[in-house]
Amino acid sequence: MDFAAVIVAAGRGARAGGPVPKQYRRLGAMTVLERTLRAMLAHPRCTRIQVVIHPEDADRYAAATAALADPRLRRPVVGAATRAASVGRGLAALEDDAPEAVLIHDAARPFVTVAVIDRVLAAIGPGRAAFPALPIVDALWSADADAVVTGAHPREGLWRAQTPQGFRFDEILAAHRAGDAGAPDDVAIARAAGMEVRVVMGDGNNFKITLAEDFDRAERLVRDRMDIRSGTGFDVHAFGPGDHVVLCGVRIPFGHGLSGHSDADVGMHAITDAIFGALAEGDIGQWFPPSDPQWKGAESHIFLAKAMERAAARGFTVSSLDCTLICEAPKIGPHAEAMRKELARITGVDMDRISVKATTSERLGFTGRGEGIAAMASATLVSA
Ligand code: MG
Repeated sequence: MDFAAVIVAAGRGARAGGPVPKQYRRLGAMTVLERTLRAMLAHPRCTRIQVVIHPEDADRYAAATAALADPRLRRPVVGAATRAASVGRGLAALEDDAPEAVLIHDAARPFVTVAVIDRVLAAIGPGRAAFPALPIVDALWSADADAVVTGAHPREGLWRAQTPQGFRFDEILAAHRAGDAGAPDDVAIARAAGMEVRVVMGDGNNFKITLAEDFDRAERLVRDRMDIRSGTGFDVHAFGPGDHVVLCGVRIPFGHGLSGHSDADVGMHAITDAIFGALAEGDIGQWFPPSDPQWKGAESHIFLAKAMERAAARGFTVSSLDCTLICEAPKIGPHAEAMRKELARITGVDMDRISVKATTSERLGFTGRGEGIAAMASATLVSA
């Protein structure tokens, strides 16, 4: 069953502390909200996402989703005073292109999995809603105002609710319109409307970030799941007529130019290919075919920026870049600092994570004979 998701991000999250609402706080390299959106978008049956935000958070939302180039993410709508009323606005925004099913999910649960979503979807039916939950395993005791225990309570049949809560779209929309705007959650609204609601097994990591200490647990989970990738690139351009070369974005006066379809920046090409390689997304030639006249004479920062854009869209940041230029001349050393600076400017990566160095090939081979310049590069990318 295809589904749309409503992500409720309108709260202020006061219990988590801090100057920024918790859904906009960073968890590793991205915000909690971006992580939650990526987790939902990772499900192949997710056809669109409607986020409900606080009226003061438009700029925060734009920043948090800037790297998410996914057409399934719709423009956010502004929430209302209560959670139920905010969800109602999210549902109403989906009505113009109504989905069969809708999952309503907390922005502060970034570790929801495809498996949990599948279990919820499988349990939804006509007149039937579902949500994930965990059985209570601890003993339950009540205590009075002085913390003196007053009695034991059976835990059998008790569940701790998680989200996403799943419904037939038309049914929950109607229930919201008829329901109580102060209802604690959508299960309450569904039951009030006469729907049967089923519990499916949740996931211990699908917890809601509520208190400051929850961020510590979330940071540990992110570290455990860190995805580190490396890629390499290699490129060669021959010398041709001209009075300068462009290497890693820096123009160096020289007795020859470099020939090639673009500006022939052999160093930047090797770096760009290293990033595409780490992403397993082909190479410069596939993204910018030499047969396409629009790239004739193109400045190579366009290629590098594209690779960086793809890395961001896939949830990766560049941890380090290392490039070696191989030639007898021109001398690279005096320009290496300017090259690192220019690469840092284009990529947004700190200069202390970017290396440019040079070697000769001891007058051997084509570089040794002064016929051209070769470059090799490696890139290390880290998820999250
Ligand atoms: Mg090239």
